[in-house]
Amino acid sequence: MLKFTLNLKFYKREVVIFVVISMKVYIKQEECIFCESCVSSCPEVFVVVPGKSSTIVEKYRGKNDSEGEVDTNLKNCVESAVDSCPVNIISID
Ligand code: SF4
Repeated sequence: MLKFTLNLKFYKREVVIFVVISMKVYIKQEECIFCESCVSSCPEVFVVVPGKSSTIVEKYRGKNDSEGEVDTNLKNCVESAVDSCPVNIISID
């Protein structure tokens, strides 16, 4: 599911509209094998914490570190991480 955020800014009498589209990213952390392929593929979004599984970087983190909301301009990056994960535990919604 894509989420739209609409920001309106007023400059003089013109209205400038910024649309930010984001996507949800999930990691099934209990099945992570700590290979760090996702981090190599997309370090903007994924990080492996020593002694823990792969997590979403703080900037994009949701209610916990296994899920996040990422701008779609990072879609290719996240998709390469999904493709690189040997145990297929990263998903996009
Ligand atoms: S690629 Fe998959 S298994 Fe490897 S660290 Fe990332 S989430 Fe874990």
